[in-house]
Amino acid sequence: MPNRPFIVGNWKMNGSRAMLPEARAIDRAAARYPDVSVGIAPPFTLVAVLAEALTNSQAGGQDCHAEAKGAHTGDVSAPMLADASASFVIVGHSERRADHGETDAMVKAKAEAALAAGLGVIVCVGETLEQRDAGKAEAVVSAQVDASLPSAEAISVAAQGRVSIAYEPVWAIGTGRVPSAADVEAMHAAIRARLVGALGDAGQEPRILYGGSVNAGNAAELLAVKGVGGALVGGASLTAEGFVPIIAAASRAED
Ligand code: PEP
Repeated sequence: MPNRPFIVGNWKMNGSRAMLPEARAIDRAAARYPDVSVGIAPPFTLVAVLAEALTNSQAGGQDCHAEAKGAHTGDVSAPMLADASASFVIVGHSERRADHGETDAMVKAKAEAALAAGLGVIVCVGETLEQRDAGKAEAVVSAQVDASLPSAEAISVAAQGRVSIAYEPVWAIGTGRVPSAADVEAMHAAIRARLVGALGDAGQEPRILYGGSVNAGNAAELLAVKGVGGALVGGASLTAEGFVPIIAAASRAED
């Protein structure tokens, strides 16, 4: 079911083994919504633990290095994530771009490394408030897509159905603010146009997720916006109570 909505929890730098019961509760709930693909990206320390614990959902990483191995103290490579039984990895999150100076070129290299390792990849893009207020949101995000997307060769050879884009306005992350449905629809259409420009017909395939302050109260509305293929969820993914209603909102199944 490649076109299932993809609902992904980004635990950021939160979580210890004490959160395993939450992950298990999310996983049990995911079984009730087989028309939704569910993922949790915990800190590296928990990837293998979660991958072992989850049966109806996938574990993923929040970042990977572009190289497979070598002298990069503190980094984790895509093959290492695959070895830990991760199914996907998030790359280019705005917190990584801001905290670690990650450029589009670095994000692209990481995304290609992820695909080469057999992982799914979620490439994050999004404008700052300053850029939006200056009327540059679409130009900024389009440029990020163009420069962060794995090459057409990497996608066609390795990765049918394994690439997603997450549109995450930086000003909406962790703030409780969300763009209007019209702005989300317009940006998702702009991103789709860039994907088709880069990949031809294959550019219709990648899911485009929305991320930024998604919660139980606004998920149904955001997920119903034309072109939204799922959600990347931070704060609300840390508990089953917060995350499961978002999965339910993505499903057509009756509860
Ligand atoms: C995120 O970190 O990707 C995110 C969308 O966070 P939040 O849902 O907390 O805004």
